Amino acid sequence: MMTMWRCSRYLGRRRRSITTMADSRAAVGWSWWDHAEPLPKDPIKTVTDAFLSDPSPFKINLFVGTYRDAEGNPVVLDCVRKAAAKLAGCEFLDSISPEDTSKLVEECSKLAYGKDSGVVTEGRCAGIPALSGTGACRLFAELQRRFYPESKIYLPNPTWSNHHNIWRDAEVSRSTFRYYHPDTRRLHFQALMEDIKNAPSNSFFLLHPCAHNPTGIDPSAEQWEEISHVFKVKKHFPFFDMAYQGVATGDLERDARAIRIFLKDGHLLACAQSFSKIMGLYGHRVGCLSILCADDKQASIIKGQLNQIVSAMYSSPPVHGPLLVSTILNDPDLKAIWEEELKVMTDRFMTMRAALHRNLEALSSLSWEHIINQVGMFCFSGLSPKQVEQLRKDFQIYMPNNGRISMAGVTIKNVEYLANAIHKVTRSTH
Ligand code: PMP
Repeated sequence: MMTMWRCSRYLGRRRRSITTMADSRAAVGWSWWDHAEPLPKDPIKTVTDAFLSDPSPFKINLFVGTYRDAEGNPVVLDCVRKAAAKLAGCEFLDSISPEDTSKLVEECSKLAYGKDSGVVTEGRCAGIPALSGTGACRLFAELQRRFYPESKIYLPNPTWSNHHNIWRDAEVSRSTFRYYHPDTRRLHFQALMEDIKNAPSNSFFLLHPCAHNPTGIDPSAEQWEEISHVFKVKKHFPFFDMAYQGVATGDLERDARAIRIFLKDGHLLACAQSFSKIMGLYGHRVGCLSILCADDKQASIIKGQLNQIVSAMYSSPPVHGPLLVSTILNDPDLKAIWEEELKVMTDRFMTMRAALHRNLEALSSLSWEHIINQVGMFCFSGLSPKQVEQLRKDFQIYMPNNGRISMAGVTIKNVEYLANAIHKVTRSTH
């Protein structure tokens, strides 16, 4: 009784003092966050909200960022289920151990650089688990600012929009290099080479090694050779952001081809890896950042620097997701299951590309070749923002304004409806 009385007296006093503080702030017209401006709504969030509130039974989600099966349902990969069963009963109360960290980083490096690559055995790879691809990019951006505060990052135009946000928030200035030709709907290789040549020597460039987001267009092996050569001449630094290894061609080795070409040419490079899409672990935030150094001594110094950045930012990575990934990568049977599952995902994307292309060609006199020339999860349709809006309004088909279609959202059931709608909104442009 006594305690309650004290409590209510205390609250009464406290409420009075809060009211007084609020009143006095109001009186001087000031509060702590007065200078914070509202930000424009994130474009993907806007599309998501509109999609969720649309009651139409025909609505199609073409902005979905993770894999969906032929019925449009989310998928837990079999390799992940089996790895989770193997880990069942482990207690994850402590931070990830140094042994588990090394195992994860080593397996990630083998994926990126090749299982027999000297880079791993020579110990000149400074690798660290990261909060997925986003976290790996952010760590690299921090390292770049720490050691090259005056440098910029050159990003492809277009690129995954968050690249701009990540380097902006790390206070590294950004420039772009040309990548895509809207008229040919192909790689603008000549312009890309010009921009790489014209950038000041020793510049940092971000490259997508496979399944470029958002265009689905990758340079050929010969083009990567040429790019690597110019990087060598200009002494540029290549930072590879690899979020889709295995879902461009269905083959992990082939999708790492660009990195292998740069390795063969002796570049010291860095690579961000993500398991969000390729293992369906979006919510677990598993990734890796690796930086190839001149020798093992330098690698150990860079690793120390990265660890310090991580300590101050979020202390340590989660445990369960990284253990799932390293369990799969360290077990030949689970790895084989994963590789088969990557082929299933890629085949589904390719089959849906072919179906969309076939349906459109049957209806439309425009060229839709680019749909089947592109690879990976995303199809850069070439639809204008106005056509995207019309698809949304008249057909309840939702995609970002840049016309990027997530092939994960296309199914046998909706592809005909989709092709018909695209034909209707594009026929007046002919
Ligand atoms: N890089 C690229 C090119 C991406 O498309 C994505 C995912 N959209 C990422 C990095 C990061 O994704 P996550 O943080 O989920 O690994």
